[in-house]
Amino acid sequence: MATGFLWDESYAWHNTGSHAMYVAADGKSIQPDTHAEDPETKRRFRNLLEMSGLWEQLVHVKPRMAAEEDILRVHTEAHLRHIQELSRSGGGDTGVVTVCAAGSYEISMLAAGGVMAAADAVLDGSVRNIYALVRPPGHHAMPDEAQGFCIFSNAAIAGRYVMEKRGLARIAFVDWDVHHGNGTETAFYDDPRAFTISLHQDRFFPPDRGMLEDIGEGAGEGYNINVPLPPGSGVGAYISAYERVVVPALQAFQPELIFIPSGFDAGAMDPLGRNMMHSEGYRELTRLMMGVADKACDGRLVLCHEGGYSRATVPFYGLAVMETLSGTDTGIEDPFMEMMGGFAGQDLQSHQAAVIDEAIAKAQLLK
Ligand code: ZN
Repeated sequence: MATGFLWDESYAWHNTGSHAMYVAADGKSIQPDTHAEDPETKRRFRNLLEMSGLWEQLVHVKPRMAAEEDILRVHTEAHLRHIQELSRSGGGDTGVVTVCAAGSYEISMLAAGGVMAAADAVLDGSVRNIYALVRPPGHHAMPDEAQGFCIFSNAAIAGRYVMEKRGLARIAFVDWDVHHGNGTETAFYDDPRAFTISLHQDRFFPPDRGMLEDIGEGAGEGYNINVPLPPGSGVGAYISAYERVVVPALQAFQPELIFIPSGFDAGAMDPLGRNMMHSEGYRELTRLMMGVADKACDGRLVLCHEGGYSRATVPFYGLAVMETLSGTDTGIEDPFMEMMGGFAGQDLQSHQAAVIDEAIAKAQLLK
């Protein structure tokens, strides 16, 4: 069955403005520059799909606007109104390193609704798996505030939607962004119907979230796994964590649909990450996720875009994922692969294996 792709040009029109990485210019010491979370990495990923010829082979799914009731399944009304009013009054800083510009409210509603539409396409059987290249990203957005470039918690909103409106009883999230998926974790922390897993760089962003000990609470205890990988973790550490933690835990949980909040900022040349993934690594993680999805839920995977800030390299990670999802070989070579593949420490290191061992020891689903 086909592979889907979801993109809308308006996603690139969420205007994060002029910042030095993520710090606002001040006219004194901080010279204006392009914000780290600007549209270009996303557009270049989309454009490489077109240049590779893969674009024509994908089923293009249109996003829709989320309704207020969709947002309110995860967020407070105060947060929704705050974003709405800020956007309509010309925009501004929402607080925790997140810009909301004029028009960002509507674009954020289209991002959340985009992941919902992607999930619908998979559940309706028009595609087997899909990549929703949405923006702004979502996995840091908390119920009551925007955080880390994220306004609404796109994947969590789609997760609540498929449980409450599409009748799903068990869903899973596997977040491979280099930062912790704190918004998604928070949305389902006490909910045993949604199993959340995050692999991320240890105490990076948010610096106080994503600990090994955070396993869920109440009825949700045992349904959250964090694998806080040490900075410098390479492809060997990621594959080991997937083979030893992610895949067996998903096999035990048997989700009916799997969401992958997909940041490409664990890539070896990312300006906002210190791990060392490369395109062949993302290809292998995708293959592992497809294998477990095939066994658990007829291959139903919804990937939604999160971070990834290296303009040159992100498109090749995206192409590797899309080739794998669709079973296509475009013949395009990643020109960065040879260098990144040769970096010292790409294989699993003992201090990384120790973290994975601890995650296994805490994972109730693996007992
Ligand atoms: Zn990230």
